[in-house]
Amino acid sequence: MKPIVCKFGGSSLADGNNILKVCEILKSDPNRKYAVVSAPGKRFSGDIKVTDLLYECYRDVTEKGDCSETFAKIRKRFTSIVEELGMNGFNIAGILDETEKQIGEQCSADFTASRGEYLNARVIAAKLGWEFVDAKDIIFFDKNGSLDEARSYPAIAEKLSRCNGAVIPGFYGTDSNGKIKTFSRGGSDISGSIVARAVNAEVYENWTDVSGFLACDPRIVNSPERIEVISFKELRELSYMGANVLHADSIFPVRKGDIPIKIKNTFRPEDPGTLILPSKKYVLQGNIVTGIAGKKDFTVIFLEKSMMNAEIGFARKVLSVLESHRICFEHMPSGIDTLSLVIESRYLTGGVMDVLLEEINKEVHPDYIRVLENIALVATVGHGMASSIGTSARLFRALSEAEINVRMIDQGSSELNIIVGIDNADYEKCVRAIYHAFFDKKAE
Ligand code: ASP
Repeated sequence: MKPIVCKFGGSSLADGNNILKVCEILKSDPNRKYAVVSAPGKRFSGDIKVTDLLYECYRDVTEKGDCSETFAKIRKRFTSIVEELGMNGFNIAGILDETEKQIGEQCSADFTASRGEYLNARVIAAKLGWEFVDAKDIIFFDKNGSLDEARSYPAIAEKLSRCNGAVIPGFYGTDSNGKIKTFSRGGSDISGSIVARAVNAEVYENWTDVSGFLACDPRIVNSPERIEVISFKELRELSYMGANVLHADSIFPVRKGDIPIKIKNTFRPEDPGTLILPSKKYVLQGNIVTGIAGKKDFTVIFLEKSMMNAEIGFARKVLSVLESHRICFEHMPSGIDTLSLVIESRYLTGGVMDVLLEEINKEVHPDYIRVLENIALVATVGHGMASSIGTSARLFRALSEAEINVRMIDQGSSELNIIVGIDNADYEKCVRAIYHAFFDKKAE
């Protein structure tokens, strides 16, 4: 039987009581052999994450040469975790002393930030009676700062094949100079995915404090449906458009290894969660639409020119203006005489817009340029849309009934999504209208 790799994060590991739940989950299935853990998260709203305290320690060391005051808060967190776990014989004081000393000596932001994961993994391994496997010995970065796959995967597989239960700290590894390097924030999800790929796991279980992905933002629609099964491609579309549960980079290692991810809730382990499947294992689900997500604050530059379709190099010239200002565009819907560019508004502030328009005018001499500001994009995503007749009719009927003016439409070439551009002010109304059109009337 292939092993299961579990990653625990968020408030799952905020205190000793939660860690006990985590231990129970790990022990309840003999295939759950490897756990990747984050640093302790927030215990209540307004609480500070251990990682944030560690970044503060680093600032203290660089500014004052000493971090003992801030480190005292970290000391208190881990001391009470160990007490709550009833680990009286565990020498947490000694490990904390050593860590504080190293933070002062190393004077490195990455080393300091990584210690939350390191300390938590040491405690949890001891509680479980499993081996502590330091990420610095098995996860390696190359000289460009990317994961060194050729070195990391065999090292992980070899080391873990000799453990019958191991706890690995997430979020960091070793760079090409032998120093500790972290992933970007929230990066323990990536570590979990790398470990799962290396041991060719049956599934990568990602345990958080939510029972999976919801079909849309619960701040907009009251208790939206949970997504039971979603493909990696659908997930990518939805997370790009703002739905976030997992670190965006964490899907790549497991996706390459065709390993499913399961999102589970530490506080409701019996909930089925959301299963994320690679293409090979994905079969079409009953739903037409899997999820809806969106973002506000885009600008559309609309260009019109007669016979644009016959003009060689028109789009290239327009895009090279963007390129020369290092601005990326999100979508480029086009017709025979029209072309629109959808760009995040934050790139166009401080006079950049005027410069762009001037240069575009000079390069391609359009008959007409119009700029639409304060545009929101809403993506409706689902593999089921391609094979189901009437999907777009249903979507646009819902928008027209809600009296929403659609300013732009873009259907991805994979037929996996339909994106509409609407006024920022209509954003919430639009998400609600699409949700109700596809999820309330399922019986239709
Ligand atoms: N502890 C790190 C952070 O706060 C990494 C993680 O939680 O995944 O970003």
